[in-house]
Order: sequence, then C-alpha cells, then structure tokens
Amino acid sequence: DGHVVFENVSFAYDERQTALRNISFSIPKGATVALVGPSGGGKSTILRLLFRFYDTQSGRILIDGQDISTVMQRSLRKNIGVVPQDTVLFNDTILYNIHYGDVNASEDDVIKAAKAAQIHDRILSFPDGYETKVGERGLRLSGGEKQRVAIARTILKNPPIILLDEATSALDTTTERQIQRAFAEMTQDRTTLVIAHRLSTIVNADLILVIKDGQVVESGSHEELINQA
Ligand code: ADP
Ligand code: ADP
Repeated sequence: DGHVVFENVSFAYDERQTALRNISFSIPKGATVALVGPSGGGKSTILRLLFRFYDTQSGRILIDGQDISTVMQRSLRKNIGVVPQDTVLFNDTILYNIHYGDVNASEDDVIKAAKAAQIHDRILSFPDGYETKVGERGLRLSGGEKQRVAIARTILKNPPIILLDEATSALDTTTERQIQRAFAEMTQDRTTLVIAHRLSTIVNADLILVIKDGQVVESGSHEELINQA
C-alpha cells in the first residue's frame, strides 16, 4: 500500500488563479518525499487533494492504482494520517489526544508512539504526566509540542500514508529536523511519507519535488538536484 500517482491534476480555488496546473508525478510505495518550493506554489494544495479535503477538478489521483474519487472518504482517511501545520488539540489529557482514534491501543503503545515523536520526556515533566490536561483549562503547549503530540497520534495510527504539512510552519529548524528524522526512522520503507516544506532542508528524502506556480519544476534525489544546479 501507499503508491501515489498524480495524473494531469489541475485545481483552482477560484476563477482568478490556478493553484495546480496539470501536475503529474509518481511516489513509490514507502518513499519519503519532500515537496519544496516557494510559499504559494501549491504544496499544501497537493496534500489537501490527496486527503480529499477538496476534489480534483481535472485529472486523477491514484493510490495503489485506484482513483481516490471512487473511494469512500472514510476509508480513504483510514489509510492516510495527516499532521497539519497548525495542530489543534482537544481540551483533554495528553493521553486522550494521542490515543484518540485508536481505541485498541494500550497505554504502552501510546508511550512508544510518544517516544518516537520525541515528546515522551517532555510529557513526563508535565504536572500530571500523560494525564495532564491541555488547552483552555490546562497546560498551554507550544506549537512544536502540539505538533509532536499530533505526530505521536499519527504514529500510533500507523497508516500506510502520512502527510506532514510544514509549508508555513513557524517551528524552529532544529525542532523540524528532529521531527522529520523521527518520522523517517519510524516509518522506514513501510510508510509513504509526504512532507511539504518551504525549504529544501528535508532529511532522508528519497525524492524531492520542487513545486512552483502550481507545477513540478524539478524532481529527483538530493544528489541529482545538486548536480543539476
Ligand atoms: P504552498 O503550500 O506551496 O504555500 P498553497 O497550496 O497553499 O501553496 O497555495 C497555492 C495557491 O493557492 C496560492 O496561490 C494560494 O494563494 C492559493 N490558495 C491556497 N489556499 C487557498 C484557499 N483556501 N483559498 C483560496 N486560495 C488558496
Ligand atoms: P479517523 O476517523 O481515523 O479519526 P479523521 O478523518 O477524523 O479520521 O481524521 C484523520 C486525521 O486527519 C486526524 O488527525 C485529523 O486531525 C485530520 N483531519 C481530519 N479532517 C481534516 C481536514 N479537513 N483537514 C486537515 N486535517 C484533517
């Protein structure tokens, strides 16, 4: 599972401007892919279409050969984990926030996922550990901490495809790198990981797609792109 193909996909939010222009690419199963390029280029739009937050207006998106417009949204989203740029957590405990959506997981599984997302030690320093409440009436977490909680949730869910949107992330570079590394190590070969990022600082990407003005202007491995430049 996890082979993603965009075939001549176009998308516009309104008549005035086109966000994606006839875009085509293929992501091998299990690959780590970085979508990079200037702000407004279309990276987030690609992730939104893949998650069917919007439907394509022309062209097709295939996952494992199946046109996603023919797949029930519910079953599609079972197979895709999303870590959005601005994670909103429930006003509940850390445990609940990581555990949410996976009723079968044990507390041990939750801790394992938190360790992989590099938030476990931080959680232990909270007043009530995993039972610490967050949100309006609880502890205020930083943007990076919230995102790590969301990452732990996604790791626990263990879907074949994970989308990580850092396109306009306010996180500092060190935090971003740590998160990317944790993901890449966690998900090696099993999971297709698509990271949208404004800079080309993605570690361990198998494939880099440079997205500009709604098109793929360059693609290849890190080495290939450096040799072209
Ligand atoms: P990136 O993720 O590379 O910064 P986006 O996919 O967010 O790029 O944006 C692509 C284009 O679509 C830009 O011109 C942006 O202004 C426009 N756009 C993005 N989101 C919306 C939206 N919700 N409504 C209208 N236009 C949007
Ligand atoms: P599940 O039924 O497995 O909980 P959901 O569809 O509720 O699946 O959500 C899966 C993941 O996608 C969650 O992490 C959720 O925060 C995120 N998500 C859900 N809807 C959206 C959306 N419209 N835009 C971005 N992320 C979303």
